[in-house]
Amino acid sequence: MIWTTLFLALLIAGGAAAFVLWPLLSHTAPDVPIEDDRLTELISRKDGVLVAIKDLEFDRQVGKLSEEDYERFNARLRQQAIGYLQQIDKLAPQSAHLDEMLEVEIARLRKTRPASVAVNGKGNAAPVLTAAAPTPATEGTIRFCINCGHTLAPEHKFCANCGTAAQK
Ligand SMILES: [Zn+2]
Repeated sequence: MIWTTLFLALLIAGGAAAFVLWPLLSHTAPDVPIEDDRLTELISRKDGVLVAIKDLEFDRQVGKLSEEDYERFNARLRQQAIGYLQQIDKLAPQSAHLDEMLEVEIARLRKTRPASVAVNGKGNAAPVLTAAAPTPATEGTIRFCINCGHTLAPEHKFCANCGTAAQK
């Protein structure tokens, strides 16, 4: 009798779980049409994370954050940014090469910071991406403008968007 009760309980619980989970699971099905709203939201969230990375670097440079805390928060934020970029990539596959994009975005944000901020000790060291090591540029690799982030064709020596010389 107790086994019958258990079995029924499991059946009901399983059914309820399936009922709750099914819309979530089916929502992630690959044939969901591209939603511009979702893409826009992801991009704004990613931008928010990039701004947070920038703020974090600023806090470290002015001495508000210890190196240890900076590394910890920075790694977490970059993980988030990569996560958003991966989701954006699913919705808009043309924005490939996530780590390069991330570096370009961060480089772009850095440019907007006043250069007068004092840098202490090893603060100059370029942050290293832990999730995906940047691969050396090879033939056929998508490149991005270091100034504006515009995609550069392999044969282009200058950015079609802003005219900045392309990096080798
Ligand atoms: Zn450009």
